[in-house]
Amino acid sequence: MVIDNEENSKLCTCPNCPSYDACMKGDQETLYCGRAMSGCEVSPKGCICQSCPVYEENGLTDSYYCINGKA
Ligand code: SF4
Ligand code: SF4
Repeated sequence: MVIDNEENSKLCTCPNCPSYDACMKGDQETLYCGRAMSGCEVSPKGCICQSCPVYEENGLTDSYYCINGKA
């Protein structure tokens, strides 16, 4: 389980992702893998979770947590 804290939120690379749109940015969403899916209607344009330190540290294996919800 990914811990929902400020440190992990800062490490989250979602804001650099091609799927991270204006709605997600406006709502300052991060850390979908440890929180919940996005409240925005996400159009998948690639997922860069695999290059995120939180992904590696927590041994995650999936992608698109913004669409599928927490890990
Ligand atoms: S694994 Fe994905 S959703 Fe989780 S913190 Fe990293 S970039 Fe964000
Ligand atoms: S969960 Fe994956 S697809 Fe969604 S914004 Fe984060 S890196 Fe991009």
